[in-house]
Amino acid sequence: MSSHSTIQWFDDFVGVAYRYYDLRMNVVPLFTDRKQSASLWHDVIRWWLDPSIKIRFVETGDKYWFIMGSDSQKPSTDMSFFKILQKSENYERFKKGHGGEAYLRLGVYTNKLLTDVKKNALCNCGHEAQDHDEGDDDICLYNDCDCKNFTSFQINLLKRKKIITDIVFLKEEDVKNDSLAWNCFNTNKYSESE
Ligand SMILES: [Zn+2]
Ligand SMILES: [Zn+2]
Repeated sequence: MSSHSTIQWFDDFVGVAYRYYDLRMNVVPLFTDRKQSASLWHDVIRWWLDPSIKIRFVETGDKYWFIMGSDSQKPSTDMSFFKILQKSENYERFKKGHGGEAYLRLGVYTNKLLTDVKKNALCNCGHEAQDHDEGDDDICLYNDCDCKNFTSFQINLLKRKKIITDIVFLKEEDVKNDSLAWNCFNTNKYSESE
């Protein structure tokens, strides 16, 4: 499609979460700034036509490319999204379990410090906040754990959503047969590494 030659690619977001919510899998591009996520919804995603929203996953070793785009009712401000991410358990769960459709929602990602959380909040090391030293270093007190700092995060999903029904997992050698993924790789990988 000729419109694809003018795609603007956007990768200024921190990652993608995959969550069950409202009985469906949710694909959640994550932002650290609530205002940025709200304006991207308002200016870009709001204008997307649900049946034309596409997400593509291209696996390259232990990483994958997340690629998302759509036909827009307001092509002048349209953008497509991509991000190179580390494969994760949640990603694998989504790959197996999406069943051909998902909700698209934006999310706001907040890091939590030891002083921000309740005693039973879980650290990324798997142990609770109360098992971390409250002194100068908030190291984990479990002997067999090498966690040096309590780290936890919270994701707030924004309410607005779109339905995605065009979800495809690709290998890099198949990218040339998919116009969205091909445009993304062409613009963001092949032409930059010349
Ligand atoms: Zn920890
Ligand atoms: Zn620990």
